[in-house]
Amino acid sequence: MLDERLGNVLRTTKAHIKRLESLGIFTVKDFLKYFPWRYSDESEFSKIAELVEGEQMTVKGYISSIFMRKTQRGKMLIKAKLSDETGEIDVVWFNQTYLSRLLKENMEIVLTGKLKWTGKRGEFASLKYEIPGGKQELVHTGRVVPVYHETYGLTSKWIREKIQPLLYMSKFFTDPLPNKFIEDYDLMPLSDAISEVHFPSSAESLKRARYRLGFEELFLIQCRVLQRKFLWKESSEQFSSKIDVSKKCVQGFLDKLPFSLTNAQNRALDEIFSDINEGTPMSRLLEGDVGSGKTVVAAASVYVTVKSGMQALVMAPTEILARQHYQNMYGFFKDFGFNVQFLAGSMTKSQKEEVIQGLKSGTVDLVIGTHALIQDKVGFQNLGLAVIDEQHRFGVEQRAIVKSFGTPHLLSMTATPIPRTLALTLYGDQDLSIIDEKPAGRQEIVTRVVPEGKRNDAYEWITNQVEEGRQVFVVCPLIEESEALEVKSATDEFDRLSNDIFPQFKVGLLHGKMKQVDKDLIMEKFSNKEIDILVATTVIEVGIDVPNASIMVIEAADRFGLAQLHQLRGRVGRGEHQSYCFLFPEGKSEGSKERMKAMVDYSDGFKLAEIDLELRGPGEVYGVRQSGIPDLKMATLSDSKLVKSARDAAEEILAEDPYLKKYPHLASLVAMGENVVDY
Ligand code: ADP
Ligand code: MG
Repeated sequence: MLDERLGNVLRTTKAHIKRLESLGIFTVKDFLKYFPWRYSDESEFSKIAELVEGEQMTVKGYISSIFMRKTQRGKMLIKAKLSDETGEIDVVWFNQTYLSRLLKENMEIVLTGKLKWTGKRGEFASLKYEIPGGKQELVHTGRVVPVYHETYGLTSKWIREKIQPLLYMSKFFTDPLPNKFIEDYDLMPLSDAISEVHFPSSAESLKRARYRLGFEELFLIQCRVLQRKFLWKESSEQFSSKIDVSKKCVQGFLDKLPFSLTNAQNRALDEIFSDINEGTPMSRLLEGDVGSGKTVVAAASVYVTVKSGMQALVMAPTEILARQHYQNMYGFFKDFGFNVQFLAGSMTKSQKEEVIQGLKSGTVDLVIGTHALIQDKVGFQNLGLAVIDEQHRFGVEQRAIVKSFGTPHLLSMTATPIPRTLALTLYGDQDLSIIDEKPAGRQEIVTRVVPEGKRNDAYEWITNQVEEGRQVFVVCPLIEESEALEVKSATDEFDRLSNDIFPQFKVGLLHGKMKQVDKDLIMEKFSNKEIDILVATTVIEVGIDVPNASIMVIEAADRFGLAQLHQLRGRVGRGEHQSYCFLFPEGKSEGSKERMKAMVDYSDGFKLAEIDLELRGPGEVYGVRQSGIPDLKMATLSDSKLVKSARDAAEEILAEDPYLKKYPHLASLVAMGENVVDY
């Protein structure tokens, strides 16, 4: 019944059926699962006085002085006045003569359109209208009206009319949720939720319906990630990396540090130690802002691993970053007599061979490197701990390879502060430690938004700073569509700055299309102060440490997400000098002002990540494809109650029945590996 082709049940034209098919809607079931993408609500109406020129807005008001005439180009023009308690505007319609019969003086009307100023009067070009109180009211208006993604010839109105008579069939759906959760979590029954989502009877019941459907989506994802976590731990019966540690074991290492750990670092270490004491391999993600001190925590974990006679590896996504880790770790461990080695693609064959031999025979205690570490010839004698930095840059497969080196404990790290709810969804197969505290005495970076008119003043100010010996990063606009364009814009900016603005200084250029050796050379020069101003694309986002650089200039700053801006800003403020971040916004993108303001107001990456998530949604923030953010229809990932409930439910059911044997329908959805809930 649910699988019935729509052509057989809808009274409509072949053309309409074709259009539905182009949306992927073939059957009754598909159609019922075609949920509205948004709802329009009375409260969304703008007042006339609030209309912004050129932006599509919806207003409600009363019509007066209706008249019709032919324009010079021969179009029929209907003009009327629309007023509400805040003002009056002219409204125009083109070529909709039938409206002259429909529109009446003093009639209430809802209009969607755009305002244009002509001389002193605002003129509103109406694109859509609705007449509240008309006889269509039941289906189309009411307080909360569903709006579907429209394609040519399929209007929301049409979809609403066609779905309504089919709604009763939702009671034949197979609910993917085990019955008990409907009760435990006070969820709306599935068929009610489907009806409410298409035809909300109230804002409140719509909310409950969406909550229920969102719960389903997240529950499915949680079942999947938790099952993965379970399998990671389970498949290790001959697990041998149990590391007996207590905080005491690490004291020797901590004593050598020139500082004491922050509370957040201590907490993370406790969590890690308690994991590696267990008879199952750790799978933990350490999240913390740039400079929050993750590396030290990782080093302490490496220390106890090597002290207990096992090997460790640290893997980073780029060679620059790997080298920095190598230098840090080498510094940490040189007094302890650890054999620390580096491994990366740029090394000669025989150099690599030597390191690999050392790993296999067990003479190397710690190896730090890039992807080269998981290539096929590498092996270990006794790998106890794998640390993966910027773990989102590696895939699940790469983790599987690491695992094949003898099921080590896994510590992933990321400097992208991801709100907990989102981390639970994206990386829910790992336990989470968050370092949300900066080491004491860190300076605040002064952040300013610079309007175009103040650009020259900013350059003058920068000139003074460079004369005093400071160094500057200039980050060029992010151009998502094309790396080639991005490189070009960086090259142009380099030309402009080096020839016209700062001819007296040494300006350098760094971008992603350059050869690795050239990048390394430029970075080295910047580190050695042979370059004053470094023009770069976002390649500098990941882990570059030049303490003397104290100024960060970001061009077209509003093209970046807050998380990215925050990462970029974190490149300065690492030395003794007061640091500054200048944001040059383009002002074209939506929400630009709010995001720039957030950067000025907050220095905490987690706070910024939350704001970004709210302002733009997870897909925009983290990029759906790169990050594996699920494309959710209903669930809001920033809704912590929802995420937590779904996770609790999934934990409960998997603890008892990890393969979901009692729930074959759910098991098959989980196994499908797609985030689509089917009924
Ligand atoms: P992350 O890896 O999170 O970016 P790092 O571990 O590299 O941060 O730490 C950044 C800098 O702060 C390093 O120079 C490190 O030595 C220093 N640092 C780390 N923890 C502390 C602390 N508790 N107190 C003072 N300085 C610290
Ligand atoms: Mg780091």
